[in-house]
Amino acid sequence: MTAKFEPLKPGATIGILGGGQLGRMLALAAARLGLKCHVFSPSPDSPAFDVVHRVSVHDYTDTDALDRFAADVDVVTYEFENVPAETATFLSARRPVLPDPHVLAITQDRLREKTFVAGLGIGTARFAPVDTADALPAALEATGRPAVLKTRRFGYDGKGQTTLRDGTDPQAAWLEVGGQPSILEAFVPFEREISVVAARSRDGQIECFDVTENQHRDHILKVSKVPAAISDTVGAEARRIAATLAEAFDYVGVLAVEMFVVPDGAGHTVLVNEIAPRVHNSGHWTLDGASISQFEQHIRAVAGWPLGKPVRHGRIEMLNLIGDEAADYGKWLTVPGAGVHLYGKAGMRPGRKMGHVTLVTPEE
Ligand code: AMP
Repeated sequence: MTAKFEPLKPGATIGILGGGQLGRMLALAAARLGLKCHVFSPSPDSPAFDVVHRVSVHDYTDTDALDRFAADVDVVTYEFENVPAETATFLSARRPVLPDPHVLAITQDRLREKTFVAGLGIGTARFAPVDTADALPAALEATGRPAVLKTRRFGYDGKGQTTLRDGTDPQAAWLEVGGQPSILEAFVPFEREISVVAARSRDGQIECFDVTENQHRDHILKVSKVPAAISDTVGAEARRIAATLAEAFDYVGVLAVEMFVVPDGAGHTVLVNEIAPRVHNSGHWTLDGASISQFEQHIRAVAGWPLGKPVRHGRIEMLNLIGDEAADYGKWLTVPGAGVHLYGKAGMRPGRKMGHVTLVTPEE
């Protein structure tokens, strides 16, 4: 349900669940608009804490702390989708929680998410539920091989998933994902991966950023390029899908829809892979490459303000700085047109997103 509340005024406080780099960039965008942020995160060295008005360092199940947090903020949002459902529900009895917790419940579970998407007539990979090891052979009949087995919950950056090729033992695959309730998907022979970052306001206004083309390395986003090398027809279809989902969720805020572009005869089909009910790595280019960023767009939406109409500044390439690549930040500082973002993370670990660089080339 779209919450009914008065638009926030400058000086109001937005509560953010989660203190990672997304929370940090949301808080910076809020500050630019004269809004304060209070970040709730169980982790004492959360990157967002450096830049916010107030912090709460407590477990998501600490109801006393959640009560105090709710009393201090005007609206609650989140920067990651694995906030426990009970936490979102507890808070929504006290303050508007945007996007609404029912969106979390669907997007936290890959099976519910794909079922929801397919129910709207939007294409996905063929899929089948796999609740036990015994269910895998029948699921493989439905999808064929190769197929990708993914845990229903808590998978990200390729964690909790494995590919079953010809000859892969289903039992071994089941053990590899930890023997948890899963979903089996047909392997999609995609030509490219794209995403649409879209925003929907409290009043139902929808604005999509330009379609982004994404390249992954070791299952982690490495490069995003805009514009994507797709036809106008594919671009329009991708935006239509994102808008349809935002509408169907009665969404408020920014969401990202990751999609596969699959060759199909003379044309292409667009299939939804995953929905992120939050700002997204593939939208980081908007900070330097557009007239309004995904972070400001989200803050405007949850504040009940009108959305901006994003205008892109040129051709954009966004590179993630992963693990020790961030140690080379100095070289990017001298590159003309490069925007450098470092997340202030305490520990550098392989595979950890430490920052990003945006290269903007003005179009003639
Ligand atoms: P996910 O965690 O679902 O976003 O998957 C991570 C990455 O694995 C995707 O960005 C794709 O590159 C790849 N992938 C996931 N599912 C499939 C699929 N059904 N077919 C082909 N590639 C996939």
